[in-house]
Amino acid sequence: MQDLLALPFFEARHADWAAEVEAWATANADRLTDHHDADGSARALARAMGEAGLLRAAVPADGALDVRALCLARDILARHSGLADFAFAMQGLGTGAITLFGGDALRAAALPGVRAGTTLAAFALSEPEAGSDVAALATTATRDGEDSWRITGEKTWISNGGIAGSYVVFARTGEAPGARGLTAFWVPGDAPGLSVAERIEVTAPHPLARLRFEGVRVPDAHRIGAPGDGFKVAMATLDVFRATVGAAALGFARRAHGLLVGRAAARRLFGAPLFDQQMTQAAIADSAVDVEAAALLVYRAAWLKDQGVARVSREASMAKLFATEAAQRVADRCVQLHGGLGVVRDSAPETLYREVRALRVYEGASEIQRIVIARAERERASQEAIARAESERASQEAIARAERERASQEAIARAERDRASQEAIARAERERASQDGIARAEGDRA
Ligand SMILES: Cc1cc2nc3c(=O)[nH]c(=O)nc-3n(C[C@H](O)[C@H](O)[C@H](O)COP(=O)(O)OP(=O)(O)OC[C@H]3O[C@@H](n4cnc5c(N)ncnc54)[C@H](O)[C@@H]3O)c2cc1C
Repeated sequence: MQDLLALPFFEARHADWAAEVEAWATANADRLTDHHDADGSARALARAMGEAGLLRAAVPADGALDVRALCLARDILARHSGLADFAFAMQGLGTGAITLFGGDALRAAALPGVRAGTTLAAFALSEPEAGSDVAALATTATRDGEDSWRITGEKTWISNGGIAGSYVVFARTGEAPGARGLTAFWVPGDAPGLSVAERIEVTAPHPLARLRFEGVRVPDAHRIGAPGDGFKVAMATLDVFRATVGAAALGFARRAHGLLVGRAAARRLFGAPLFDQQMTQAAIADSAVDVEAAALLVYRAAWLKDQGVARVSREASMAKLFATEAAQRVADRCVQLHGGLGVVRDSAPETLYREVRALRVYEGASEIQRIVIARAERERASQEAIARAESERASQEAIARAERERASQEAIARAERDRASQEAIARAERERASQDGIARAEGDRA
C-alpha cells in the first residue's frame, strides 16, 4: 500500500486516511463479521464505522465525494472482510444520489443518520425484468395531488433490502420513453405500502431482498433531481461508485494473492517448496500482474474523477471490468494452489472465491462494461478523425495561404523588376536623346 500511496495519484491526506482505515479494519473488521449473520454484521459494522467517523468519506458533510478515499477504504476493507466493505459501500451508494443531486432539506433529513451508521441506506434500481436493461424499468411513480407521488412496482436484488432505513428508488414518471422518463426518490424504509416480498440468499451472504411498492406515498420534497432526470442521476451515481467496485475487487485480490504466495512458500511437494515449481511461479507472477494492473486502473479512474472530469465512464468501466475479472482469476489460482484445503467450506480461499463472484454482475455486468468501453472507443475514434480532418484542413489552408503569399511576393518582385527595367529603358532613351541632341548640336556647329 505504501508503494501505491507514493504514486502521483495521491495527496498527503490519502496516506493518513489509508492508515486510519487500516488501523480500524485491523482492530474491528474480522471481530464484527459473522458470515452466518449478514444482517447483524452489516448493522454492527456500519454502526462501528459511523462511531469511528469512517463514514464521513461515504457520506461527506460538504457533499464532496473523494473517489480516491472511497477506493482506498474499499480496497483495505475488502482485504479484511467482504461484509465490512459492503457495509461501508452501501452507506455511500445508498445516499450518493442525494449527495450529488439532493436539495439542502433532503440532505439534512437523509444523510446524518447514514453518516453516523445508525441507519442503513440502499439503492433500488434493478427490477425482475430490468437489470442490465435499465430503460425497461416498470415501477411507476404517478402524481398524487400537487405535492406528492405514489410509487407502485417491484425492485429486486436490493442490497440492504429489508434492513435499510431508507432507499433511493428509481421509478418511471413518463416524461419521455425509455431511460428518459425516470425519476429518483428518497423513500424511508417504514413507508406504508413498502414491504419485503422475499429475502434472497446469495453465494457470499449479505442482506439482499426483493421489495414490493404498493402505492407508496412520497412527498415531492423527497424527489432527487428533476422529473425525468432519474437515469442521469443513476448513471452519475454509478460513475462515482463503479470504480470503487473495482477497488473492492482489488482488496479481495490482494488477500488471495497474499494467501497463495504464503501457501506456495509453506507447502512442500516433491522434496521442495511448491513455490519452486515453474508452473506455480507462473501463477504467482500472473496474479502479481493482475493485482498491480488492477490497482493502476482503479486509482487512475478515481484520480480522474477527483480532477473534476464530469464523466469518467470509460475509465471507471475499464477499472471495474479489469479489477473484478482479475480478482476472480487470482481467487481461482488461490483455491487451486491450496489443493483440497482451497475448497473447504468457509476457508479463506473458498470464501474469497465466492465473495468476488457477484462483483462481475452488479453495478453493470462485465459485458455492460465492455459495451461502455467500446462505445467510448468509437466516440474517441470519431473525435480523432474529426480532429485529424480539422488539422488536415487547417494545414491545407496554411499551405494555400503560403502559396498565395508567395505568388503575391513574386508578383510584387516582378512588378519591381518591370518598373526598374522600364526606368532603365527610359533612362537609356533619355541618354540616347541627349546624345542625339549633342550630336545634332555638334553638326550644327560644324
Ligand atoms: C449480490 C448482488 C447485489 C446487488 N445489489 C443491487 C442493489 O443494491 N441495487 C440494485 O438496484 N441492484 C442490485 N443488484 C442487481 C444487479 O445490478 C443486476 O443483477 C445486474 O444489473 C444484472 O441484471 P440482471 O440480474 O437482471 O441480469 P440480466 O440483465 O438478465 O443479465 C444477465 C447477464 O446477461 C449478460 N448481459 C447483459 N447485457 C448484455 C449485453 N448487452 N450483451 C451481452 N451480454 C449481456 C451479463 O452477463 C449479465 O450478467 C445486485 C445484484 C447482485 C447479484
